Amino acid sequence: MSTIFTKIINREIPSEIIYEDDNAIAFLDITPKAPGHSLVVPKKEVANILEADEETIKNLFIAVKKVTAMLKKTLKPDGFNIGLNHNHAGGQTVDHMHVHIIPRFEGDNGGSMHSIVDNEPKEELASIAKMIANKA
Ligand code: AMP
Repeated sequence: MSTIFTKIINREIPSEIIYEDDNAIAFLDITPKAPGHSLVVPKKEVANILEADEETIKNLFIAVKKVTAMLKKTLKPDGFNIGLNHNHAGGQTVDHMHVHIIPRFEGDNGGSMHSIVDNEPKEELASIAKMIANKA
């Protein structure tokens, strides 16, 4: 069964498409957190970055850069948050990889990546790094 984003790609449901190339599409998020809040989606239906091949990731992020430049030029934000929610624990609700581009304006009361979660580690950074690097 195709995802809701594949239905958008196939024009089976409407959306505000702002960019499209052979590999990716971008449209406005239906529940925007800021003017121009956009989603960039690979046309290949993959759930997340770990399931995507390198070509898909490369082409997706080329599109992310292009859309970010379009938003910068037209809406003139002061900054952006650009990121992916990964899996349910990471806030992902649509299991078709997508990059959120959220334009940010001085004084918009938003936060940074550091405001997403507050789960400070109890272990030393060095021991966490050792564990990750040894098992990568
Ligand atoms: P995530 O929580 O990262 O999985 O985000 C999924 C996003 O898709 C949410 O921000 C939704 O508002 C957005 N969304 C869901 N359905 C649509 C749709 N039909 N058109 C545009 N955006 C959508």
